Amino acid sequence: MADSGTYVIDETREACEMQAKYLELIAACRALKPLTSDEEQGILRAYTMAREAHAGTRRKSGEPYIFHPLAVALIAVKEVGLGPTAVMAALLHDVVEDTDITLDELRMVFGDRVAKIVDGVTKIDDVMLMQQTESKQAENYRKILLSMCNDAYVIFLKLCDRLHNMRTLGSMKDTKKLIIASETSYLYIPLAHRLGLYSIKTELEELVMRYTNPEKYAEIEAKIAATAGTSEQLEECLIQPVRQMLDEAGFQYTLKTRTKSVYSCYKKMENKHIDFDEIFDLYAMRIILKDVPREHEREECFRVFALISGKFTTNPNRFRDWISHPKNNGYESLQTTVMTPINRWVEIQIRTERMDVIAEKGMAAHFLYKEAHPEEHIENNPVEEWLQQIRTSLEQSDKSALDLVEEFKESLYTKEIYLFTPHGKTITLPSHSTVLDFAYAIHTNLGNHCIGAKVNARVVGRSERLHTGDQVQVLSTENTKPTEEWLNECLTPHAREAIKDALRARRKEFVAEGKRRLAEYLAKMRMRNNPQNFGQLKRYLSQPSDIDLYYDIAVGNITERQVAECFGKVRPAPSFFFHETQTTPFLLDQEYENYPTETAPCCKPVQGDQVVGIVQGDRIMVHRTGCKVAMDEMANHENHVVRAKWRPGEQLSLLTGITLTAIDRKGLLQEITRHISDELDLNMRAITLEASEGVAHGIIMLYVNDVENLNGLISKLKSIDGVEDVRRI
Ligand code: MN
Repeated sequence: MADSGTYVIDETREACEMQAKYLELIAACRALKPLTSDEEQGILRAYTMAREAHAGTRRKSGEPYIFHPLAVALIAVKEVGLGPTAVMAALLHDVVEDTDITLDELRMVFGDRVAKIVDGVTKIDDVMLMQQTESKQAENYRKILLSMCNDAYVIFLKLCDRLHNMRTLGSMKDTKKLIIASETSYLYIPLAHRLGLYSIKTELEELVMRYTNPEKYAEIEAKIAATAGTSEQLEECLIQPVRQMLDEAGFQYTLKTRTKSVYSCYKKMENKHIDFDEIFDLYAMRIILKDVPREHEREECFRVFALISGKFTTNPNRFRDWISHPKNNGYESLQTTVMTPINRWVEIQIRTERMDVIAEKGMAAHFLYKEAHPEEHIENNPVEEWLQQIRTSLEQSDKSALDLVEEFKESLYTKEIYLFTPHGKTITLPSHSTVLDFAYAIHTNLGNHCIGAKVNARVVGRSERLHTGDQVQVLSTENTKPTEEWLNECLTPHAREAIKDALRARRKEFVAEGKRRLAEYLAKMRMRNNPQNFGQLKRYLSQPSDIDLYYDIAVGNITERQVAECFGKVRPAPSFFFHETQTTPFLLDQEYENYPTETAPCCKPVQGDQVVGIVQGDRIMVHRTGCKVAMDEMANHENHVVRAKWRPGEQLSLLTGITLTAIDRKGLLQEITRHISDELDLNMRAITLEASEGVAHGIIMLYVNDVENLNGLISKLKSIDGVEDVRRI
């Protein structure tokens, strides 16, 4: 760990060290995979560009800045196993943020992917900054998280960057140390966990604890040191006998041992409320079987387990079979804990070489394998699936920035549940999965017709959450088909995608009707029905596909008016106006002059009422000033309020409503309608009159010219014999 204050600048020595680091980097890349001359050129060019761009800049520790990108690149290759593209991006990861070099320049020299990765890494820093100021720009935030999830390399590199910063934290100011350490435990440790970069995760945890809880760290470190010597004893009473057994049985294997890290001990003691002495797996031994054919892996691991449990006392509560039911991150292993002759429990993990790679690198192993073998078609890539899942949830989300981070973090700790079909087949799904997820996991067709399930003999709906151990029998009918709401009844990206596919297929059935209507609309406004105009409409309404556009037109989600708006042929808002006019009946604030207006259906203002405008989407909704809906809106969205007045001298008939209560009697209805139609010459649209227990309640919808007109009618109605009460709606 770099120490502050002791650094001596010596440029000749530094130049030598730089060169040595660079050669070490190239050697590490070659050890992973032979480099093509293009790749080697690219790495050299990235190194040269970064070195020159950062020239003259030094880190807090005093050393030249370029040592940091070099170290990050080395971690990427040696500790994660990333290849040349990641190495170039690692070398360049700070140039856009800290030097004059632009993304465009990077794109020109190194291509699109490297530029995108650097861009993503740069943006994560912005996110962390925003989170500290609790910025309200949720939309911005979502975009950044999305760009970060576009390429797994971004996350891998950010972790390498963070690991190096944590390793060299010593030279930072104390407050800065705490900020970086808490960021690390807030976001980067969960990320490392989810990706399965376990050794990086463990090291980050150790470093965080060392800076945030130094006393406890020292205390446990001392206790672990006090058991020194135990490893030697275990060698004699456990490891030697196990080796002998395995050799005699003819196994090919590697044997590894480890002592639990300070932080893991601490966490176990805290979580389980136990003392240091009660930690079962302070020592662990791992048996890694070599050259086992895939189909014999499970059986071979169990053979080893049988040998061990024949010789040592095992703790039955601590047996775990992660081979029959692998964890969601791909982890497979048999685990048992045995009592040793020196009276210490030791955890034993039994696995094959293939399982070991996955256990050490988790999801990352799958990802790296796929990167290294682009020619092979590998279906399930957990990293890609996970990123897709995050993208899906970010895309549909309308939540606040803070909720988004929380949700994102939660997704880092997703656990899995094990479910059974009626035939006893196991289905593994993320926890909180529903019946619908289960149905789609079995077969798309079953999902598409799912109406619910029998879960442990109980009948439940599609959205019922499932739990480990549930036996699930999906119920389906041919007549059931997916609807938009189904998207809320499931969790897995697989189910969501299948539902979207089904909806898209359904939408196709509406294409003909959509085409017919669109042609009719366009003809009416004398627009050509050609691809240019169609394209313009699609962009204007932000429709993802032709099918979506036709569908929305066919079912009326997109109206003739919206089509007209697209081509600048807007007619005034029709809804509540009795006759059509080219201008709105309202005078509005100057900046909203040309907006279409609509009288609000909640309070139905008429000429003479005091009114206020509220921006609603692309139009102004005009309310009476006392309207409850309007007041709520004004309280919450000050900037939506528009001053509005009735245009003087306009003669308009507006639809309004009144309620009436009266003692029911014969001829009441006729008298009311006669007053409205004959005496006042008003246009009545609808009247309902219901009587119960001698009291009549009526609602009358009618067109009036202005508020005086209306008040006149109200007093006329009140004068009718038996009418108790008349009021505006
Ligand atoms: Mn950096």
